[in-house]
Parts: sequence; C-alpha cells; structure tokens
Amino acid sequence: MKDIIVIGAGPAGMTAALYALRADKSVLLLEKENFGGQITYSPKLENYPSVMEISGSAFAEQMLEQVMAHGAEIELAEATKITDCKTHKVVTTEYGDFEAKAVIIATGSKHRHLGLEGEEALIGSGISFCAVCDGSFFAGRKVAVIGGGNTALQEAVMLSELCSEVVIIQNLSFMTGEKKLLQILEGKSNVSMIFDTVVTSLESKDGELCAIELKNTVSGEKSKLALDGIFVAIGQKPENEAFADVTALNDYGYIIADENCLTDTEGVFVAGDCRTKKIRQVTTAAADGAVAALAACRYIDGL
Ligand SMILES: Cc1cc2nc3c(=O)[nH]c(=O)nc-3n(C[C@H](O)[C@H](O)[C@H](O)COP(=O)(O)OP(=O)(O)OC[C@H]3O[C@@H](n4cnc5c(N)ncnc54)[C@H](O)[C@@H]3O)c2cc1C
Repeated sequence: MKDIIVIGAGPAGMTAALYALRADKSVLLLEKENFGGQITYSPKLENYPSVMEISGSAFAEQMLEQVMAHGAEIELAEATKITDCKTHKVVTTEYGDFEAKAVIIATGSKHRHLGLEGEEALIGSGISFCAVCDGSFFAGRKVAVIGGGNTALQEAVMLSELCSEVVIIQNLSFMTGEKKLLQILEGKSNVSMIFDTVVTSLESKDGELCAIELKNTVSGEKSKLALDGIFVAIGQKPENEAFADVTALNDYGYIIADENCLTDTEGVFVAGDCRTKKIRQVTTAAADGAVAALAACRYIDGL
C-alpha cells in the first residue's frame, strides 16, 4: 500500500507529489492522458515566478522529471472511483485497484465544447481547442477563435503569426482577457473581432469544417463565415463525477473545498483547478498541491 495516491499529473498533482515525496511519503501518481495537464497546451508560460518564458510542454517535462527524480511511482491510468475503507482508500482504475492511506484529487478541468450538432465529428477536422497543438495545420489559412478570455486571446496571438486571417468571435460586447493581449491583437492587420455574437451551426464539406453560422445576440441577425478552422476557447469543465461518492460537488461539478484543500471525507484531499476557487492558474494549482500534500502527510502521521 502507498502512503498517498495523487490523481492527475498537472501542476497541482505534480506539486502535491513533490511535497509528499520530500516529506518521505511513498507516492503513486495516476495520469489518464497527458503528463503536465492543461499547461502543455500553452505556447508560452510567462507568469510563473522565476521563469521569464517557457513553453507549457517544457515546463511539464521539468515537473515530471523532478517528481520522478524524487521517486514518484507513475501509472498511466484513469481513476474511476475512490472507495473510503476508513483505514485506507481504494482507487479503482481500468487496470485494477490501488490502495493508499490518503488520496489527493488533482484532476483539473477540460475544454468546454460549443454543444452544436456535428461538433464532435469535426474535432480534428477543422475544430480544435489548442493552437499550440494544431495551429500549424492552419498555416496560411483563415480561422476563427471562439471566446474572449485570456485563453482565447493567447490562442489568437499565436494563430495570427501562422494564419492568413484570424477572426475572434465573442458573445459579450467586450473581451474579458488581459488588456496587454488585447493591445497586441489590435495592432495586427490580419486579426478582426466580432462582438455580441455566438456560433449557431457548423457547415462541413467532405468531412472538414468549411463555414460557421453566426448570430448577433443583440439584433438577432444571422450571417455565414467561410473559414478553414475554429479554435474553441470558451472555458473549462471539471470531470469529477466519478468522485461524487466521497466529495461534494457544486452545480458546475467542481469539488467544494476552500484554501485548506479538505474534502468531505477524511483522508481525501483536493488540489488545483478541479476545486471551487476564483483563480485557476499554474501558481494557484501548485500552491494547492503543496497545501493538500502537507495536509495529507499530517493526516497519515496521525493515523
Ligand atoms: C491554453 C492554455 C493556456 C494557459 N496558460 C496559462 C498561463 O500562461 N499561466 C498560468 O498560470 N496558467 C495558464 N493556464 C491554466 C493552467 O494550465 C491551469 O490553471 C493549470 O494547469 C491547472 O493545474 P491542475 O493541475 O489543477 O489541472 P490540470 O492542468 O487540468 O491537470 C489535471 C490532470 O489530471 C488528469 N486527470 C483528470 N482526470 C483524471 C482521472 N480520473 N484519472 C487520472 N488523471 C486524471 C488530466 O489528464 C490532467 O493531466 C492555461 C491553460 C490553458 C488550457
């Protein structure tokens, strides 16, 4: 049996693993698909203290290298259930059960979809959620970014350097992302912005997205925009349903917990973007990882 199982190897989970290992606890880190989590989709990380600029994937590699150097055991497996056996917890995955004295849930969140007919089939065929992953497929072509927050604006900046034309489509009358990013975009001749507008349907040809239908939410007027691809950046969705037996979720699916990273169940802790919080960033995820790990260590020492 391990001391601690950490579910999710994003910044929160990796930091939790690091702190627990340095407190001399044995750690199993479970990751279902992508070591490093969401930050691997970011072309540039520029707001982590002491690091002037680094790509998200390089940052993720360094985190993984660090936890492995400290002796973390790692499994590529999806946790589908946590059973509270009081003296210990059992984490179920598709490859079997793993036992530990304490569990830290650090499952982050996922890209929100538009919810339009045909969307799922067009993912990878004109619909993307990640400019750093897929931007080069659209070099010299026309794309739209859906959304107006930081992620959308960052995606648009990167795409503007590759694509012939970038149209940012925002449902509000203003962008909600950082002013600095907005200023960069306003200075680019191949970037335009459409406000008060939502995407209402998708058009495809030979299995590839070729146009989107837009609706102005003020006038109700509809229009069609021919393009080669869209990058959807309309927020995040947590995936915590599997843990609803041991943790309370809010209406949006986030695990209810404050800065202490404690859940409803003794010995089950939560860290990072998957919990209720106001600011979801690498710094806050890493901070949670440290808090959750030290709380888990104290819990184990008191058993
Ligand atoms: C495009 C983009 C750009 C960003 N840019 C910045 C930036 O510049 N600066 C900044 O501070 N933040 C940035 N962020 C936000 C930042 O990446 C997140 O706040 C941070 O990654 C959250 O860390 P986390 O560990 O809580 O969750 P995540 O990074 O989401 O990691 C969670 C991990 O858990 C895994 N997982 C989920 N469910 C399970 C399961 N059941 N079993 C096993 N594993 C599971 C996931 O696969 C994932 O790897 C950006 C995000 C995106 C998408």
